[in-house]
Amino acid sequence: MKRFSIWMITILLLLGLTACGQKVETAQIYAMDTVMDLTACGRDAEEALSRTEQQIYQLEALLSRTRETSEISAVNRSAGSAVEVEKAVSGLILTAQMYAEKTEGCFDITIAPVVSAWGFTADHYQVPEQKTLDALLTLVDSSRIRVEESSVQLAAGQSADLGGIAKGYVSDCAESIFRAEGLESGLVSLGGNVFALGTKPDGSAWRIGVKDPQRAEGFVGILSLQNAYAVTSGGYQRYFEEDGTVYHHIIDPHTGYPAQSGLLSVTVVAAANGAVAETLPEPGNGTMCDALSTALFVMGEEQALEFRRESGLDFELVLVTEGGRVVVTEGLSDAFAPDEGGNYVYETVS
Ligand code: AMP
Ligand code: MG
Repeated sequence: MKRFSIWMITILLLLGLTACGQKVETAQIYAMDTVMDLTACGRDAEEALSRTEQQIYQLEALLSRTRETSEISAVNRSAGSAVEVEKAVSGLILTAQMYAEKTEGCFDITIAPVVSAWGFTADHYQVPEQKTLDALLTLVDSSRIRVEESSVQLAAGQSADLGGIAKGYVSDCAESIFRAEGLESGLVSLGGNVFALGTKPDGSAWRIGVKDPQRAEGFVGILSLQNAYAVTSGGYQRYFEEDGTVYHHIIDPHTGYPAQSGLLSVTVVAAANGAVAETLPEPGNGTMCDALSTALFVMGEEQALEFRRESGLDFELVLVTEGGRVVVTEGLSDAFAPDEGGNYVYETVS
């Protein structure tokens, strides 16, 4: 299957090469626990990819909490005291705090100790005791983080996990570099986080599959997107099973348990930022899609749709429910093509 997809991509890219008459470059790297595929089309495609790769490694070195030398690890180790950080780190934490507030705590980076108690940080999975969870949940509240431009201070005992937002920010950075290099076409695919710049080299929209959470190689549908972000969160992406129960990696900060909201996956789609930054950019719509995909998975269908209508944030959704429905918001009705192979019932909603 992997070999097949590589061939497919190669063929598509060769077709693209003739169509746009410009260089198409691809790269695959492994960073942030994720296989990342980068495609760039344009005169400076090679330079764009090499700058993006370097940027990704640099961000991983700042933001990964499993790396002892990262800035976020220093912040976590020194909880209770302020730690000097790069502006990109304080900016991302400030943005995470803002999404925690907007989503009434459904997204909260201070969920870290709870994520660790379930073993998702070190891959030693276990079901924690209720009293352990109760104690750790008292630490979960990102409004207690003090953020200045050049320093961050967690409350004593807290720790922060940027795993639910970091790849979104990486995609914002990739957009900025692609645009700075003058590219008009490209695709950045970081696991469940995708950024589509322009159209494919042949002028058609980029096609992004929304995975079927219940069929390993299947899709619930295909999104045709240009200049957009699409980020998916799902319980199927990381989980373990104990005594016949499945426990996944998206934790409801209100219970300390893997969220059981009736959703199997949430895909958030929003427009590209359109901006170029000389240095690391401010978090944009890539970051928003990432934070919201996690938060709305915790909320569940009804609350997620209400949040979309009332938050004042501009985004569209594809929700896959446990009940076998695929719920698509109206802004995607032209962009989303169902794949009937999975026996889902499709609905368009406002
Ligand atoms: P994502 O795949 O973007 O939905 O992010 C999931 C990752 O974010 C998990 O592996 C945890 O590291 C972290 N996480 C889990 N639950 C939450 C939550 N409610 N809020 C913020 N981050 C979370
Ligand atoms: Mg996320």
